[in-house]
Amino acid sequence: MPASVRRDVIAGAIAGLIGGLVFTWAMQAQGLRAAVAGLLGLMTGAGAALDLVVSVVIGATFGAIFRYQRLGYAPMLSSGVLYGLLWWILGPLTLVPALAGRGPTWTIQEADALLPSLVGHVLYGALTGLSYYALVTLYLRRAPEAATEPVLAEGPVTRVVILGGGFGGVGTAQRLEQLYSRDATLEITLVSQSNYLLFTPMLAEVASSGLEAQHISAPVRAALPRTRFRRAEVTAIHPITQIVRVRATPSAPEEVLPYDHLVLALGSIPNFYDLPGLEAHSFTLKTLQDATLLRNHVIALLERADVEPDPEVRRRQLTFAVAGGGFAGTEMIAELLDLVHGVLHYYPNIGTGELRFVLIHSGNRILPELSPGLADYALSKLEARGIEFKLNTRVAGATEEAVLLADGGRVPTHTLIWTAGNQPHPMLQSLPCERNRAGAVIAEGTLQVKGFTNIWAVGDCAQIPDALNEGKPAPPTAQHALREGRVVAENVAALQRGQPLRPFAFRAVGTLVALGHRTAVAEVRGWKFSGFLAWFMWRTVYLSKLPGLEKKLRVALDWTLDLFFPRDIALTSQSTPTLPQTLGVGTQPVTRSQSTAAERKS
Ligand SMILES: Cc1cc2nc3c(=O)[nH]c(=O)nc-3n(C[C@H](O)[C@H](O)[C@H](O)COP(=O)(O)OP(=O)(O)OC[C@H]3O[C@@H](n4cnc5c(N)ncnc54)[C@H](O)[C@@H]3O)c2cc1C
Repeated sequence: MPASVRRDVIAGAIAGLIGGLVFTWAMQAQGLRAAVAGLLGLMTGAGAALDLVVSVVIGATFGAIFRYQRLGYAPMLSSGVLYGLLWWILGPLTLVPALAGRGPTWTIQEADALLPSLVGHVLYGALTGLSYYALVTLYLRRAPEAATEPVLAEGPVTRVVILGGGFGGVGTAQRLEQLYSRDATLEITLVSQSNYLLFTPMLAEVASSGLEAQHISAPVRAALPRTRFRRAEVTAIHPITQIVRVRATPSAPEEVLPYDHLVLALGSIPNFYDLPGLEAHSFTLKTLQDATLLRNHVIALLERADVEPDPEVRRRQLTFAVAGGGFAGTEMIAELLDLVHGVLHYYPNIGTGELRFVLIHSGNRILPELSPGLADYALSKLEARGIEFKLNTRVAGATEEAVLLADGGRVPTHTLIWTAGNQPHPMLQSLPCERNRAGAVIAEGTLQVKGFTNIWAVGDCAQIPDALNEGKPAPPTAQHALREGRVVAENVAALQRGQPLRPFAFRAVGTLVALGHRTAVAEVRGWKFSGFLAWFMWRTVYLSKLPGLEKKLRVALDWTLDLFFPRDIALTSQSTPTLPQTLGVGTQPVTRSQSTAAERKS
């Protein structure tokens, strides 16, 4: 186990003990027992000892999951509060009644009766978070050699320009800010079309009305206080003169940004492989706009279907197809099913038997990112809930009314979500450098673009060899993009100081896939999890990764409310349910707006 992980686990365990002492005292003062001790019917002495042991284990897990970052006490307090809240939902609200043979306590009345224990759990979480941060900070003060950040000497200003505000770009800037926290010789500029970092793992939940759109987007300016931010589109890169041209709006004048180091982090865009009608008649899932457009489209279709007399038209309106059985497609179809079934009681004229959910996948099994056993589990769970799988099947095109399949079949639907293909950002085509067949910039292990010493590439727009995986290309995931960004920052600093550069080497933490209905599958460091535990892990891990105190709290609140209330069916955009007039209102599909297709192309 790396020394820093050991440090965080030990600090978490001690912090858990501190939180546990207060928790045990608070519970006893209220005449209550903690979940585990209460379940076993243990009396005061033994019950308190068990509480403390459980608190230490939960505290150590806190340290391992949240890890130490120099963010300050407030974010750690919020993480602790959320952690306590999640344990309250998992323990007294879910596991304890389930083990006692009563099923989860998820009604408002029953949850109300458990409010005193909620206070105890939140208090425990807050104290654990605070003492954890204090302990590690104290340790690093006493043993500064354990801190990784070097202090650089003063000198001439070096300009680093980062293109893209996703995981790769923000990861680079964050690490540079840490490395140069006490050194003004580095000027960091980040250019991005959107002024927030989009937390894509939760995007399907926005499309399914489970989360509010803004809650999964962290403003770049708030995350990067030392970085100059430009909300603009990159229009040209000139490696010879070392400048980048950007434009804030199509009518605004171009701005020229000179650089000493350039970081390419422009991500990828959907690839429709020139299949006829696909781009015009499918939804994608890459941006917040995509997710909100899809959500509104599905709800608008339910509104139409509820009053539609023609059974064939209704059937088409109530069929939802996803192309692509990777994690994005699988999570999306599961979320769609949860959304539609969860709000069906608002639509009395629609029967569950009229709904159809289809996942089309070209491979012979879904979730190739996972081992076959877990993928099979996911498939059988989703099939049991009514999702139809068309494996070994390719999409050949799409019309307003159907998905066309390569085997000659067709799926009549107005909803096709395309997650089956991505391509590196086309802007990179203009760069005089090596690219792979897909168009990704080829980078060295050090993340320098081949043939350049001062142009670096990270994330989905680059092909990056992973030293821990025999130099095979790192997969296009957020966890890789984030780590690649950190390595670029460290290598830029190393180059400045005349030190050797280090190659990118990262062993992925694991893969977690939510299957809706409080079920998930997870493979973490070779360990396999499925069902409710995996779902809880999914939520805990991704909540801890979501940037920013406020966003974590908002998402935790959305999730808690989602336990008790149905999803929101308010249509938030009037433009979405526009129906072509020529064919008669009430029988026609809800089509994607032209503006969105154009937006995606840019
Ligand atoms: C629905 C979905 C679910 C996912 N789930 C997971 C998951 O659970 N776990 C996981 O590890 N990965 C997941 N991923 C993959 C992950 O999101 C990507 O691998 C990751 O975002 C790549 O990071 P990046 O920085 O390369 O690109 P991005 O995050 O896509 O960022 C690209 C940035 O470039 C900006 N940009 C683009 N063009 C321009 C331009 N011309 N000018 C200026 N700025 C521009 C964009 O605004 C954006 O800020 C998921 C992806 C999707 C779509």
